[in-house]
Amino acid sequence: MKVLVLNCGSSSIKYKLYDDDQQLAEGLLEKIGTAQAQLNHTVSGQKKTVSVHEILEHRAGIELILNVLQDPEKGVVKDIEEIQAVGHRVVHGAESFSESTLITPEVIAKIEECIDIAPLHNPPNLAGIYAISQLLPQVPQVAVFDTAFHQTMPDKAFVYAIPYVFYTRDHIRKYGFHGTSHYFVAHEAATMLGRPIDELKLITCHLGNGSSVAAVDRGKSVDTSMGFTPLEGLPMGTRSGDIDPAVPLYIMDKEELNLQQINALLNKHSGVLGISGISNDFRTLEDEAAKGDKRAALALEVFCYRLKKYIGSYIAAMNGVDAIVFTGGIGENSDVVRDMVASDMEFLGVQLDADKNRAKERGKAADISKASSRVKVLVIPTNEELVIARDTRRIVSET
Ligand code: ADP
Repeated sequence: MKVLVLNCGSSSIKYKLYDDDQQLAEGLLEKIGTAQAQLNHTVSGQKKTVSVHEILEHRAGIELILNVLQDPEKGVVKDIEEIQAVGHRVVHGAESFSESTLITPEVIAKIEECIDIAPLHNPPNLAGIYAISQLLPQVPQVAVFDTAFHQTMPDKAFVYAIPYVFYTRDHIRKYGFHGTSHYFVAHEAATMLGRPIDELKLITCHLGNGSSVAAVDRGKSVDTSMGFTPLEGLPMGTRSGDIDPAVPLYIMDKEELNLQQINALLNKHSGVLGISGISNDFRTLEDEAAKGDKRAALALEVFCYRLKKYIGSYIAAMNGVDAIVFTGGIGENSDVVRDMVASDMEFLGVQLDADKNRAKERGKAADISKASSRVKVLVIPTNEELVIARDTRRIVSET
């Protein structure tokens, strides 16, 4: 079955077209809303092509993508009707969705209700859904939620210690994100370890521009570091992560910042960029730290120390761990970060193999712990789009 996977952001659309598990093409349309929108399109096994277009909104962007997919030269299908289903990444499903679901008018209404708590993310996701409803009205669509995997968290993990009415009335609680990635690498880890997932305690670290860590007990998420929004938890490229809640109040008062300004400060100017003053890119930070830049080194140390503490706390929460999994752009590629996080944890049964860690090949899964390590340390490339394609296929076949 040919399934188109769409990930619509505020000014970009990422897409992948699958035939069952085989990827036929992928691409990224950026700078939507301008006359210089750039489409990077790659047919699997071929070179990337780049083109520039005036694309003012998501529907026009999706129309362009559908045209490229059936283009006689750059395309991979003869007719767009070959696409049998579309799977959408939807960021926030709140408590309404604990699994992927076929998109119906009722489902759309519920996703619209979540806009209140995900004002940045759900509107572009919905724009993609509306566009497909108009452009491919006969094609079934499926929503796959970033929050769904974490809906198994017990209330002691997701309730914030503020007046309870804010949970019951306003739905303020920890939701967690990156669920599709945590789910995927947890299952891949079980396969690598050759054990059923319902016997395993895993800690999955998704480290990219946004980073989160999850405690996965016998296949179920029981805790995760992101919260009501993706700002909680680990320090990230440009996001502060956990912080004394009094700090933003103090800064707002002292610097006379309004809500928008403090929001921008915590989301766009903080994290490792804020500490280093140089970059949110871990490659740059590693290079500068190696050349002696103290703040770049400090940014890396803060990030790794905080992740190490999350891992320790999740080992305590689950009363043990069988494997720690690294994924995402940083987790998959930075031996420096993996080394700083997973060394000096022998007391907890974690023995990193420094040579295996350094020698890990790009794009491949690997076990980087010593043979004697009670807790395995794994690096597993994530593939959120594949999960979306598989869920879409399964749900559409069942209906
Ligand atoms: P997103 O969260 O947007 O999907 P990615 O998972 O692609 O992001 O991760 C992007 C991050 O991965 C960037 O901070 C980048 O610096 C980092 N990264 C990519 N390759 C390396 C590398 N070789 N070493 C260190 N960091 C890397």
